[in-house]
Amino acid sequence: MSAVATAGRDDGRVLAPGATLGILGGGQLGRMIALAAARLGLRTHVYCPDPDSPAFDVSAAHTVAAYEDEAALRTFAAGVDAVTYEFENVPLATATLLSAIVPVRPGVRALEVSQDRLVEKRFLEGLGIAVAPFRPIDGPADLADAAAALGLPAVLKTRRLGYDGKGQTMLREGFDAAAAWTAIGAAPAILEGFVPFSLECSIVLARGLDGGTAAFDVAENHHEHHILRRTVVPAAMAPETAAAAAALGVQVADAIGHVGVLTVELFLVRDASGERLVANEIAPRVHNSGHWTEDAASVSQFEQHVRAVAGWPLAAPRRFSAVEMENLIGADAQAWREIAGEPGARLHLYGKREIRAGRKMGHVNRLR
Ligand code: AMP
Repeated sequence: MSAVATAGRDDGRVLAPGATLGILGGGQLGRMIALAAARLGLRTHVYCPDPDSPAFDVSAAHTVAAYEDEAALRTFAAGVDAVTYEFENVPLATATLLSAIVPVRPGVRALEVSQDRLVEKRFLEGLGIAVAPFRPIDGPADLADAAAALGLPAVLKTRRLGYDGKGQTMLREGFDAAAAWTAIGAAPAILEGFVPFSLECSIVLARGLDGGTAAFDVAENHHEHHILRRTVVPAAMAPETAAAAAALGVQVADAIGHVGVLTVELFLVRDASGERLVANEIAPRVHNSGHWTEDAASVSQFEQHVRAVAGWPLAAPRRFSAVEMENLIGADAQAWREIAGEPGARLHLYGKREIRAGRKMGHVNRLR
């Protein structure tokens, strides 16, 4: 992008019913944000380069254009009252350009912190939050020393653009440095010491325009093939640990000056000294592990996000029931008829036309 815009200051505006919220990204998260906005009387305009975006089906307006298309971004910004995003890899230049015209919530800072694993780890460490020990890796020659310092096994991860286990490989005794470097796409990386966790969990919370916060109950997450398969709430942990997770999430959101929903993925480690949390990564957005809130809580993560970015009061989330969220991945979604007929099951489908292996097609919340 040619022009280097300076990030604008958020003017603190509140979006009244009838106003338009712009959403960058047209996947299922954007779709569910748009549905929640509609319920509150807000219109949405979704901006996404993919002409086949699931969120387009449920929003008043959409733009198909690249995130680098300045003219399209300016037109989009002129037609909305605030902009939010459904993914953390929005280019910084895009968010900066938009923020000079219209409030972007969450802001550019949330993107800076979460787009680069090295920046993210240092940020968390700077807050005194426990993270896996790590070393920056700029080439295969760095691996031997880093592995010696951290011990094996260790996890090599690209600094940028990794998700669902992509851009990631495990190093074990006798590893081949050149092969590992190639496996992650030969890009700047970090090596992380292996965390011997008992379970993976996440804290999803909202921070409002006034700085108020409201956390959902901690979610316990189970992955298969690096993709979230199931989320169970309540999570199997001591109440003090759950409270610590919520406090950690609030600390991160406050430090970023976040507005909107934010998620911190965590490892729970159990050892002789009890339970402790290790932060893995920050998602400055609504999150798959928060989908249970749609059916088992008094406010969903999507509505809470809309409330926050629109400058509305946050709701106080209350969980009604124990719940298990299962992702419908690839061909799983073909069982829609059986799931729809299952007592206690709440089916959510994303309207994606093409079923592909590993593609998130929908999810089901089962109240327990
Ligand atoms: P990430 O892309 O960082 O979310 O990592 C994907 C998955 O890899 C996590 O959900 C964990 O199951 C596993 N993993 C990542 N980093 C570590 C680590 N340092 N120690 C142990 N397991 C890890």
